[in-house]
Amino acid sequence: MPAVEIRPPDSVLMVLGRLWAAGHAGYVVGGSLRDVLLGREPADWDMATDARPERLVELFPGAVYENRFGTVAVREGGAVHELTTFRSDHEYADFRRPHRIEFGDRIELDLARRDFTINAMAWGADADGADATVSEAGAVDRMPEPVLVDPHGGLLDIQTRTLRAVGDPRARFEEDALRMVRAVRLAATLDLSVETGTLAAIRAKAGLVAHLSGERLSAELDKLLGAEWPSVGLRLMAVTDILGVLSPELAAQRGIPQNKIPGDDLWDHTVRTVDAVPVDRPVVRLAALLHDIGKPATMSDGHFRNHDAVGAELTAQLLGRLRTPRAVAERVVHLVRHHMFTYDPSWGDAGVRRFIRRIGRDALESLFTLRAADNIGSGQPPDAHDIGELRRRVREQLEADVVLDRADLAVDGDDLITELDLAPGPTLGRILDELLERAIADPAINDRPTLLLLAQSMLTEDR
Ligand code: ATP
Ligand code: MG
Repeated sequence: MPAVEIRPPDSVLMVLGRLWAAGHAGYVVGGSLRDVLLGREPADWDMATDARPERLVELFPGAVYENRFGTVAVREGGAVHELTTFRSDHEYADFRRPHRIEFGDRIELDLARRDFTINAMAWGADADGADATVSEAGAVDRMPEPVLVDPHGGLLDIQTRTLRAVGDPRARFEEDALRMVRAVRLAATLDLSVETGTLAAIRAKAGLVAHLSGERLSAELDKLLGAEWPSVGLRLMAVTDILGVLSPELAAQRGIPQNKIPGDDLWDHTVRTVDAVPVDRPVVRLAALLHDIGKPATMSDGHFRNHDAVGAELTAQLLGRLRTPRAVAERVVHLVRHHMFTYDPSWGDAGVRRFIRRIGRDALESLFTLRAADNIGSGQPPDAHDIGELRRRVREQLEADVVLDRADLAVDGDDLITELDLAPGPTLGRILDELLERAIADPAINDRPTLLLLAQSMLTEDR
């Protein structure tokens, strides 16, 4: 076994020590070990053992079962870690997760079911109870010497930054089609190249992605969009045609010419736009991916009329299929719907206020971020088309004490009901909207007596 220096935190060593002292195997496995070997900070330290879940609950006071796949959360040294019993997967149906799992006794079997060689390594030991003891305080004596277990050549693949399926890639992707989506996601988030045989298998089997649940797909898509350069994974999705399965409309962007960056097609513009959104703006990144989804369907004579409205509709459908949480989906649809906004420096302040009302206060910052990225994706400076000026003027209005939405009006529905003897209903709503329009145009009228007077006259006109 190659000697590698792994330094897990004390709480992890205490968990392993307690397992070893009880005569069980204990290993750090999967993504956490991979991340350490890549020189990245692991998000968590996943561990695997031959001890069955019932046994773990005995060994670790306060341990709780997490799921039916044998994962138990244990508390040790002030931290909570996940411990999973070795298993081998069985009976894959519908190209999805295994329907039945079987616990195993050997780490090698557990590693063989994992997806990629870099994810199929373990670091730890098969202890026998005679060797290790653990004190009340959790200190481990006579620890066994942990080794790296690497039956599939993961360490070498890490060194050459290669993503390679464990075993026969086609068979592995038939077992679980999500692995193909994980492949393009991991290539992007970890900056890896996909090994040729693995890539060819994805091309061959991409159609199976259609069988996956929206939830599993969108979890991977979210992680992909969280990569420094999502374009790496998005382009892999396109060349393997996972993209066409996920969204035929996005796949249809390939080959559509556009006069922005010479040599680029519409899909190039999309991925450039996604990359240009800051990594800490996931909702805007999703909107960037989808902002021009309506173009292929609306293309006519080199124009894409109405592609924002059509795109908003397609976005809603796709995010519905992906089971994106409603609040997120609504924000993304709104951004796609409004991404074509224009600005003219001749606008008066009332025009700026009407723009704010149309977009909604909460969406402004995201829409500007999307436009900046869209500009960059078109080979232009981020604030092209006077967008910098619009942003400044919007900020001015937001900071000024002016009317921008109903909540800013000096009267509300209840006032009108009491003062004008109105009943709740459409007339009331219409009057409030009209008052808002007027106060946006002229903030000076926003006081109670003036608004009540105006409302009264609207009411008379109405009758
Ligand atoms: P992340 O860094 O996003 O957590 P990860 O690879 O650790 O990536 P997890 O979902 O945490 O992803 O999975 C933990 C481990 O379980 C993986 O490293 C891999 O060994 C294994 N695994 C996860 N999903 C699959 C799958 N679909 N098929 C086979 N093995 C899988
Ligand atoms: Mg993980």
